[in-house]
Amino acid sequence: MPDTMIETLPITPERTPVKTVAVVRCEDYGRDTVFAAVKRAVDLCGGIGAFAAPGNTVLVKPNLLQGLAPDRCVTTHPEVLRAVIQLLREHGCRVVIADSPAAAIPYTEANLKRAYAGAGYDRVAEELGAELNTDTGFTIVPTTDGAVVRQLPIINPALSADAIVVVSKLKTHMWTCMSGGTKNLFGLIPGLEKLSLHARFPTEQAFGKMLVDINMVVKPRLQVMDAVFGMEGNGPTAGSPRKIGVILASADYSALDATAARLIGIDPMEVCTIAAAVERGLYAADGSGIRLVGDDIKQCIVPDYRKPASYQGGNRGMKHSVLLSLMQAAGRLYVPRPEIDATQCKACRKCERGCPVGAITMTGNVPQINRAKCIRCYCCHEMCTDSAIRLKRSRAGRLMAWIMRMEGA
Ligand code: SF4
Ligand code: SF4
Repeated sequence: MPDTMIETLPITPERTPVKTVAVVRCEDYGRDTVFAAVKRAVDLCGGIGAFAAPGNTVLVKPNLLQGLAPDRCVTTHPEVLRAVIQLLREHGCRVVIADSPAAAIPYTEANLKRAYAGAGYDRVAEELGAELNTDTGFTIVPTTDGAVVRQLPIINPALSADAIVVVSKLKTHMWTCMSGGTKNLFGLIPGLEKLSLHARFPTEQAFGKMLVDINMVVKPRLQVMDAVFGMEGNGPTAGSPRKIGVILASADYSALDATAARLIGIDPMEVCTIAAAVERGLYAADGSGIRLVGDDIKQCIVPDYRKPASYQGGNRGMKHSVLLSLMQAAGRLYVPRPEIDATQCKACRKCERGCPVGAITMTGNVPQINRAKCIRCYCCHEMCTDSAIRLKRSRAGRLMAWIMRMEGA
C-alpha cells in the first residue's frame, strides 16, 4: 500500500506477540476528515469486521468525564465518536454509548443525560441511531486473574455488550501521567464506587495495576484514540488544548498507550498503566513487539508537549534511579500538592464530595485541605472545572525537582 508506512520495532516474540498500532494523520475535526482518518486507522488494524460482527451489541466507551464542551479537550471529540459509531452502524451493529462520568459525580440518569448533552453526544446518537445508556445498574464481577483486585463493580451495559470499543482522548494526567485507552475504562466503575478504589489504591503504581485488572476483566476489542487535539500540562481537566493531529487505533490498550506516550514525548514506563502491563507480561518494557502502520510516527511527535507537573522525566540511568527512589521515599514532599485558589472558587463543593479520603472540608464557602490526610490522588483537581485548585510543590519539593533537573542535565 503506497501511502502506508510500516515500522516494526525490535521483537521479542517469547515475551509478547506483535501488536499492531495504526498512526494516521488527521489535521482537524471536520466530519469527512475525521471519518476518513478513523476508517483508515481501523482498516489498518484489520477492519471493523475484525472486532464486531453484524447484529452484535457494541458498547462504545468515550472519555466523557464531566461532559464538558468539545473545545475544552477534556472529552473525546464528538466527531471521533461519530466516525467510530458510523463504522459500526454501517457494519450492522447495535451501538450503546456508555460511561460513568468522573469520580465525584453520582451515577444517575439526570447526570448522565447532562454529560451526554454537554459533550455533544446526544446529537451523534440521535443522528446515527445509537443509544445513550441511562441504566445506572452495576454488577460485582469476579476478577479471576486480577493482580490486585478479586472483584470489581462494573456498569451493566459493559457486561451485556458483545464487544467493547474504547474511544479515548489523549491527555496528560496528574495522577497517572497520561490518560489514554487503559485509564479510560475506569469509567466502567459506577460513580462514587470510584472513590473507594482511589482510597484502596493510594499509590500511582497500585492504581495502575488496578486499571489493568479492569481491562483484563472486560477485554475491550478495539481502541481508537482521539489525538487530533490533546490536552497538555496539568490534565485531565485543568490543562490546555494542544494539537497533535493524529488518530490512533489498535486492538491492544498497552501498545496504543505506549505509542501515544511516544507521540507526546513521555517515557512509556513513566505511565503507571503501561508499567503495570509490563509487569503482567502484556507488553515489553523496551517497546518491542509493536508494529506501527500508517503514517510515519516520527513526523507526528510533538517534542515540546507540556508534561504534567508530576512528571518525573524518564529514565536517565542508575544515578538518576537511586536519586528517584530516595525522592519517592520522600514522595509526599516531592509530588505537587493541591492548593485552593479562593479567588476562583465557586463553592460548588465538588472537590469536597470527590475526595476519596475526606481530606477536604468547607469552612464557610472555602474548601480547606487536610494535608496529613491527602493522598495526592488529584481527584479534587480533576473535579474542579473553575481552575480553583492549583497543584504546587512545597519548598522542599521544589528543591528536589531542581536537583533532579541538575542531575539529568
Ligand atoms: S475548589 Fe473548585 S470544586 Fe472545590 S468548591 Fe471551589 S470551585 Fe468547587
Ligand atoms: S485533597 Fe488530596 S486526597 Fe483529596 S482529592 Fe485532593 S488530592 Fe486527592
